[in-house]
Amino acid sequence: MNIQDIRDMFPILNQEVNGNSLVYLDSAATSQKPTSVIEALDQYYRQYNSNVHRGVHTLGTKATDGYEGAREKVRKFINARSTEEVIFTRGTTTALNTVAASYGRANLAEGDEIVITYMEHHSNIIPWQQLAKATGATLKYLPLQEDGTISLEDVENTITDNTKIVSMVYVSNVLGTINPIKEITKIAHKHGAVMVVDGAQSTPHMKVDVQDLDCDFYAFSAHKMCGPTGVGVLYGKKHILEHMEPVEFGGEMIDFVDLYESTWKELPWKFEGGTPIIAGAIGFGAAIDFLEEIGLDKIEAHEHTLAQYALHRLSEVDGCTVYGPSKRAGLVTFNVNDVHPHDVATVLDADGIAVRAGHHCAQPLMKWLNVSATARASFYIYNNEEDVDRFVSSLIKTKEYFSNVF
Ligand code: PLP
Repeated sequence: MNIQDIRDMFPILNQEVNGNSLVYLDSAATSQKPTSVIEALDQYYRQYNSNVHRGVHTLGTKATDGYEGAREKVRKFINARSTEEVIFTRGTTTALNTVAASYGRANLAEGDEIVITYMEHHSNIIPWQQLAKATGATLKYLPLQEDGTISLEDVENTITDNTKIVSMVYVSNVLGTINPIKEITKIAHKHGAVMVVDGAQSTPHMKVDVQDLDCDFYAFSAHKMCGPTGVGVLYGKKHILEHMEPVEFGGEMIDFVDLYESTWKELPWKFEGGTPIIAGAIGFGAAIDFLEEIGLDKIEAHEHTLAQYALHRLSEVDGCTVYGPSKRAGLVTFNVNDVHPHDVATVLDADGIAVRAGHHCAQPLMKWLNVSATARASFYIYNNEEDVDRFVSSLIKTKEYFSNVF
């Protein structure tokens, strides 16, 4: 399959925006969806929409097979040992909040430490801030090197025997940094801490093996990997999940309900209170089929090439600062002279080019970078070098326009 074949599978890309063919460079915020995913959702609603688990009728059985079948696809995709370890959530944010609210509240107390980094998304900061406030634990930040990477020496110096939770992004949504999760997990475990990984930006773009990483929890969202919005996954090691209490109570997650006491279902259902995200999970399964058909190795290599090409092209733009290391995932975050990133994004949009501007839900990182905002172009399987060229040409035009204005 070549890139044009892949692009043709994304109907949304075949349109003009502001009179120009669309160049979509905002996949780190949310990816576009291939026809197969759109059709899987359409088929579910047209042909077998029904609630899962409870019904004995044909449609209900088909919906249950689709929902639980998607769980097995996720299990295989991340190489979890069992589907008991795969919990469907609303996304990365809900998954991380579940760990903080359930594991965190039960296991942390005053004197304990939670270690995170300066490069976290707000979704991997605030649950831990709240947990620290509720339990009296201390929230500690791993420092960053000047190029936006983490040194293992700093990890060794920051994690102590008081550390109970280490939580970290695998791939930064701003810097593109790829963190050495396997090595950091080993250090966390040496001190008896659990390792939580925010996989929102890694899972869509590279092969992830949770057994190889040996992390205890791993969170990700379908919508960043060609799947629908509103569904994601919390992976957790079975022996840990077994001892955790649910955080949402109601239908679907119970075994038996009496007037004053109730018991929970087995894993993973005890964490899935209420009617689950049936269509979302089925669409997610179709997205996984799609990504596997292309191959994660191929996706990673393609994005690496594009990111390197973008870095090279941006180095030709006078006054352009790119943040993050040269060895990076498929995104570039940048600023141009004194042009506000929102102005950059607005002018690019007039040329049909979609990039993101703002703090990217990473305000502590913006503070560390000493900027209030940045612009970001992020790539996926459907982007090509021509997209990068159009983006850079438009950026040069933007810069020239603003230098004439001021
Ligand atoms: N973590 C990272 C690194 C992200 O980039 C994002 C989304 O941009 C999230 C967490 C939150 O994901 P969601 O909004 O799908 O829960």
